Amino acid sequence: MSLVGSSPLIAEPKRVSGRTPPRLFDIEKVMPAIKPYRRKAIRLHPTRATAPLPSNASKMGGKFHWPSSEPWPYCSESDPPPDPGIAQAEDDTSEELQQAVNEIRRPHSTAYQAMVQLRRDEFPELPWPPGSDLFQLLWCPSVHMWGNSLDTKSSQSSGARIVWRRESTVRAVLQTQSPRVPRFPLHECAFEPEDIFEYPQSVETPPAIEAAIPKLQGWFDALQPRKANDPGAEWRYSYDIAASPGTKLFGWAQWVQAVEIPTCGCGREMKLLLTCASDESNDPGVWDTVSIEPLTGKEDFHHPFGFEWGDWSNAYVFYCAAGHRINTATIVQSS
Ligand SMILES: [Zn+2]
Ligand SMILES: [Zn+2]
Repeated sequence: MSLVGSSPLIAEPKRVSGRTPPRLFDIEKVMPAIKPYRRKAIRLHPTRATAPLPSNASKMGGKFHWPSSEPWPYCSESDPPPDPGIAQAEDDTSEELQQAVNEIRRPHSTAYQAMVQLRRDEFPELPWPPGSDLFQLLWCPSVHMWGNSLDTKSSQSSGARIVWRRESTVRAVLQTQSPRVPRFPLHECAFEPEDIFEYPQSVETPPAIEAAIPKLQGWFDALQPRKANDPGAEWRYSYDIAASPGTKLFGWAQWVQAVEIPTCGCGREMKLLLTCASDESNDPGVWDTVSIEPLTGKEDFHHPFGFEWGDWSNAYVFYCAAGHRINTATIVQSS
């Protein structure tokens, strides 16, 4: 039986959206050593809502289930600790980068934007602290382009703020929440969650597996047709097989830069909780069954939410709850 197009690993997912096509070939049969590295990811597939969603829904943007007794928070993080990215940018003479550096250096007081809200009954896999059933992620729309910090006391870093809330404690919802900012006209999005399995990109695999990856070229060469959106493109294990693009829970990171996994205060390596992507899949036939061609609103499809992390890049939320209260850390990578 041909392995091409078959993928028993994703044949029985709990959440089915039909958005992810079968893998190009069954990587575990071709390279059995990769099997122990299989992880579940939940692709969220944010899609623009056609009408306002309830405040307590799982979603991106819109009005969050935030109590009227709690003022909407503002970010006043400034002067982040020295970072190689900033030092490099300061040497760069381009006006755009200089502007970004100046913006980071300038103290600000900016209302957070409502980013991701998740319900416990829909996503029980999250590391819910006792009593919580609503995860809320806010992000500062000012530039925190090279954020890479770990503040285990406040859960605030890289311009992010995370709240684990109990829905029933919200008696009245705060009506005036994050104001619209001209740079990011955000669009409320619903999710079409989908369980898939993922594998580490080559940069995260042990040397023995990494050395075997070039041997996959024969399988890639047998694939026809080439990528629908880019017929001349080379197939790449890390981006076309290993880790899915877009906004997702768990799984393996699709790194924009080098692997950057934070260490918790307890000394353990933190685990990937959430990837927020500036844009969603642009690989019909590889990472999406939806063909982009007949879609009139391609921008709506690839950039449904409207926020840009870094330079059209990704933000990653990590966590550790190994025998202690949950700690989180956020990282933004820029291309
Ligand atoms: Zn900020
Ligand atoms: Zn820890």
